[in-house]
Amino acid sequence: MMKEATLLALSEGMELDQIQITETGLVVSVISTHPQSCCPLCLQPSSHIHSRYHRILKDAPCVGRQLQLSLTVRKFFCRNPYCSQKVFTERLKTLAEPWARMTTRLKEQITSIGLATCGKGGVRLGNRLGIETSRNTTLRRMMEVPDDARGSVVYLGIDDFSFRGGYRFGTILVDLESHRPMRGLVPAVQS
Ligand SMILES: [Zn+2]
Repeated sequence: MMKEATLLALSEGMELDQIQITETGLVVSVISTHPQSCCPLCLQPSSHIHSRYHRILKDAPCVGRQLQLSLTVRKFFCRNPYCSQKVFTERLKTLAEPWARMTTRLKEQITSIGLATCGKGGVRLGNRLGIETSRNTTLRRMMEVPDDARGSVVYLGIDDFSFRGGYRFGTILVDLESHRPMRGLVPAVQS
């Protein structure tokens, strides 16, 4: 029988504990059981667990429902005497960056929505697909995509936006063929 963790494409060592259905979607409890993790500084593996803690990650929607991962992850001791990192948090490989509040796959989906809609209507489209996002989050994701190195652009999308309650303004330009932003943040105007 297929393991549930495989169904959610969780990496090896991540085990599904329970699934809770809430009004807004699904909350899946996941426990990390991988016996080792590598120190981010010296890259030596360690199996000495320091402590356990919870981490909540928004994940890509599941059959149109919002999905949240409630993770139990660990901190490890680094036992390398020459390493200055005594304790480190376990790395989740491709699932999420160390301090992120959403999974990498959800980030990528929001980026795609942002680039496909050029920012406009991206929040509404996201909501219809079970992705809760804000205009600012969508724009930030778009701006993290590396610039398109090509010299000429045939189809250009333009969106104006404001950050921080209207105090900073800018314009994002998207090459509609490559779906990459052009450098993008035309000088912000202080008002
Ligand atoms: Zn180390």
